[in-house]
Amino acid sequence: MSRFIATSAIRGAHEVVGRFEKMYHEAMKKPGPDAPIKFPNTVYYLPVIYGILGHKVQTIKDLGWVVDYAKSLLPPLPAEHLWLPYLGETLDAGMATFFAEEGIMGIEYAMGKQPEVSPDGFKWNGPVDDVQVRSWGVAMVDGTMPGFAAILGAAKNEQIAVKLIREFQSKGILLFMAGNVKGNTLTKQALNQGVTLGYDTFTIPFGSSTESIIYAGGYATRAAISFGGYEPGNARLNLLYNKFRAFAFALALGPVDDLKYATAAGAINYGFPVVTDTLIPNVMPVGITQYEHVISMPFDDIPGKDDNERVERLVEKCIEIRGIKIKVAKVPIPVAYGPAFEGEVVRKADLRVEMGGKGGMCFEWLRMKDVNEVEDGKIEVIGPDIDAAAVGAKIPMGIVIDVAGRKMQKDFEGVLERQIHHFINGAEGVQHQGQRDITWIRIHKNAVEKGFRAKDIGTILHANFHNHYGAIVDKVQVTIYTDPPKVKELLEKAREVYRERNARIAGLTDDAVDVFYSCTLCQSFAPTHVCVINPERVGLCGAYSWLDCKAAYEINPNGANQPVLKGKMLSSEKGEWEGVNQFVYDHAQQAINRFTVYSLMDAPMTTCGCCECVMTIIPEANGVMVVSRDDYSMTPAGMTFTQLMGVMGGGHQTPGMMGHGKIYVTSKKFISADGGIKRLVWLSKNLKEELADQLKEAAERAGEPDLLSKIADGESAQDSDSLIKFLGEKGHPAMTMDPMV
Ligand code: SF4
Ligand code: ZN
Repeated sequence: MSRFIATSAIRGAHEVVGRFEKMYHEAMKKPGPDAPIKFPNTVYYLPVIYGILGHKVQTIKDLGWVVDYAKSLLPPLPAEHLWLPYLGETLDAGMATFFAEEGIMGIEYAMGKQPEVSPDGFKWNGPVDDVQVRSWGVAMVDGTMPGFAAILGAAKNEQIAVKLIREFQSKGILLFMAGNVKGNTLTKQALNQGVTLGYDTFTIPFGSSTESIIYAGGYATRAAISFGGYEPGNARLNLLYNKFRAFAFALALGPVDDLKYATAAGAINYGFPVVTDTLIPNVMPVGITQYEHVISMPFDDIPGKDDNERVERLVEKCIEIRGIKIKVAKVPIPVAYGPAFEGEVVRKADLRVEMGGKGGMCFEWLRMKDVNEVEDGKIEVIGPDIDAAAVGAKIPMGIVIDVAGRKMQKDFEGVLERQIHHFINGAEGVQHQGQRDITWIRIHKNAVEKGFRAKDIGTILHANFHNHYGAIVDKVQVTIYTDPPKVKELLEKAREVYRERNARIAGLTDDAVDVFYSCTLCQSFAPTHVCVINPERVGLCGAYSWLDCKAAYEINPNGANQPVLKGKMLSSEKGEWEGVNQFVYDHAQQAINRFTVYSLMDAPMTTCGCCECVMTIIPEANGVMVVSRDDYSMTPAGMTFTQLMGVMGGGHQTPGMMGHGKIYVTSKKFISADGGIKRLVWLSKNLKEELADQLKEAAERAGEPDLLSKIADGESAQDSDSLIKFLGEKGHPAMTMDPMV
């Protein structure tokens, strides 16, 4: 780090800490010392201050201590410095800057000034929700999201901005965007060019001020607490986790002022290198700081035949300096490709052509064939291509994938077929929904303009099945039908196969198998967590079924999914087996001795951070409630989903509380030892709607056909009293069942 950077950073830190102090004193007058400070949807207070210092800021007056602490960290101003500022001092200045920035944002929230709304009405995101931190956790573990970037400022022009965002997206890198250059922001540049921003596309616009980049620090700090399992206040471990486990870096676009230098010093203290696209004067390198914290790459000096190439080099450098490993292989199609595009929406005005959806006809069918019947890489389009259709038209399509492989099994057809959604959705400008015969694909005008055609759907599938399922699939051939009579004919055949498959899956019960499967993917966050996945219960994130695990084990026999031999049965009612107990004991750091599969009350499964739902007992109702991750509202347990996660996440076994996948609610084995679905007294409304048909079936099976109308939700009951009243009025069966405790 050069003297220039050090002195600028120290100056910037003095400025921002001074401003923080001033704002604090003003806020003590108005809105006053007891005015609450709260970032939305988090239980981590002001997360950097809480995570690093262990100090809970809940009201304005709680900031007094933070002001003093930040001031105490400040080294003397450069003008008074008789010696060269050394690295430690600069890092302290950076840390003080982070505390001040977070304090400032906290005060702005207390005053109702955040989240920011631009003059043109654009509402910035503000900090990341806890729920989102958790759900990105899985993507970070499995490598679909290899790292994140905090980008400060704005690109030289809008084309460069878009290219930059696309480059990062195509590598699955999460982008946090903040700050401005003379009022212009990367966010605005992207929006002007029609880029979809938000959680689903890995692009989070924090705010237009430099200070708002602190939300990236808050994200990193929370990730370390929840995934690293560190106590809030353990600064050292938190920072080490971020340095070695969170693959993050900062990118400053445009001129760097003192505050940005100070903020960069804060990032470096977290172990995040800083890359700039402008020249940073490197006046005098200080001995021990030769280590690459700061890389200056003046944009126009980057070699390359045009700006696009320069952007590619810049992005490559960011990734290289952070040591990020990109798993996403290049897919040779005319549009960008990567998991960040999965959340993209193609709006009506931008629609070039669609397949399926209401009144349409579109299906996907993956079938296992003999090795001689499949020609690898052959992609055929039978019928007119998509650019032949009128703008905005709906055309029929049938996508038939033939695969062959020595390790391929008939049972894996469905597992592989379900991946088509992710695979096709990863193309920029292509939106994919549904599966089987309810597939719906929409294609953006820009994509077709760039040359995207029906054949490219085949290219995507061929490349991805080889990349991700190479261990079970040796050959992949894709035929795409758009010719209406042909589509119709094949659709009928596909439907027959779907029916056969349904029957097979329905016959797949816990009793019919000798092995369950484990998933330990989440142990990098929650070291004592093991998911035991049986045919009648999915993993708690909802992403892995028993069949998925079986396939995953074939693909990688040393991976996170291992067969768990049931062994001797200890209790058929509770679902306890010797083999399962032993496996869990051995694979959860010997922290857990017993593990039942059918009980919530006795030795339930542990819970990591990524469950789709949380179930918890409501003793006064003699039943259980299930709240979904997408439900932000208060529950009769007196806690929101996020607060419940705070109590039980991290790999703990908590009798009476358990995380689980959505679909488990409709399983025949849903807490069967505790009374089954008839215990369900409260269920998030969105789940009631989403699972309506299956819930109805489950209720009928339990001999309570009207059960659904007797289960309360967020509208009918927000607390214990209104819940009891509702259940009494409806005559819910739980009220007269045996006591749960
Ligand atoms: Fe994590 Fe369980 Fe999902 Fe595996 S199945 S990713 S361990 S939540
Ligand atoms: Zn998890």
